[in-house]
Amino acid sequence: MTEWKVLHKPSKNMEAIILTKWQAIDITYQCPNCGADRATTWLFPDEGVEYVDECCNRLVMFEPEEGVEEE
Ligand SMILES: [Zn+2]
Repeated sequence: MTEWKVLHKPSKNMEAIILTKWQAIDITYQCPNCGADRATTWLFPDEGVEYVDECCNRLVMFEPEEGVEEE
């Protein structure tokens, strides 16, 4: 799985916000191939997601944070 950090919660992407009823968040991560800083909108962060990052066409996988208490 790919390490990620919250960038904006909720997302700054209004379309994503409307589509997901405020569930979407923006996250940053590093390309697993070249280490470039990347960012994306995660529509449903309570569900894992995977997709091919266009940076190096590598598969990235995000899993929800586990065991972290939300304030
Ligand atoms: Zn890359």
